[in-house]
Amino acid sequence: MRRRLLVANWKMHKTVAQARETVRALLADRSWAQPELDVAIAPPFTALAAVAEELRGDGGIALGAQTMHWGEFGAFTGEISAPMLVELGCRYVILGHSERRRLFGETDEIVNLKVKSALAHGLIPIVAVGESLDEHKAGRAKSRVTSQVRNAFEGVDEFDMARSVIAYEPIWAIGTGLAEDPHAADEVMAAIRDIDPGLREVQILYGGSVKANSIAAFVAQPNIDGGLVGGASLDAASFAELIRAAHTKAATA
Ligand code: PEP
Repeated sequence: MRRRLLVANWKMHKTVAQARETVRALLADRSWAQPELDVAIAPPFTALAAVAEELRGDGGIALGAQTMHWGEFGAFTGEISAPMLVELGCRYVILGHSERRRLFGETDEIVNLKVKSALAHGLIPIVAVGESLDEHKAGRAKSRVTSQVRNAFEGVDEFDMARSVIAYEPIWAIGTGLAEDPHAADEVMAAIRDIDPGLREVQILYGGSVKANSIAAFVAQPNIDGGLVGGASLDAASFAELIRAAHTKAATA
């Protein structure tokens, strides 16, 4: 039985003070918390330690980072490594987000190196994949996404694949208000599960303009285990509402 997971990707938003305030607001009203649904927050690097402190002693929300370098240490100015994230209490790390791929030159090969490093250090990689609008229009979503997944997990064994998370995020749906049709997203995810026995029961999240009023339709699909949420996770009340909506459907699906 796969667990539900909702991950807040705060991107380059929130100072340390703002991050603390949002986490406190989220923890003040725990009506969203449910034992069968996991929640994680991925703040900017600068707020990781503060968010870890706010979450301390609270098993309900896990900490995640938004990217990392594949090396352990070295002359890589500006970079952060897996052991550094582990030391801060991170459980997850988002890898290969389309913004990293598009704006910072992250290739499939780099994502693969990062996935291996994250797993080697006990972090759970959330591997983000997704097709562009042109690829979508050309009917190439499945082939693009399955190729990205194959490359990301090249050389990774079945056990490590199974404990990873994949986020299917059509690029054209991220931050645009244009979410993919849940059934169409589910079909792409079914294709991901068919790639390798190690991916058969992997957790797969949908990402791309998901909101409190749309998450239920996504998690009702057989292959969708939760969401990677950008904009709708920035405000504590709206994220709490989204988590509640995901649970309601999870319980009735
Ligand atoms: C994301 O950043 O991964 C994302 C899905 O953003 P949004 O929810 O704002 O579309």
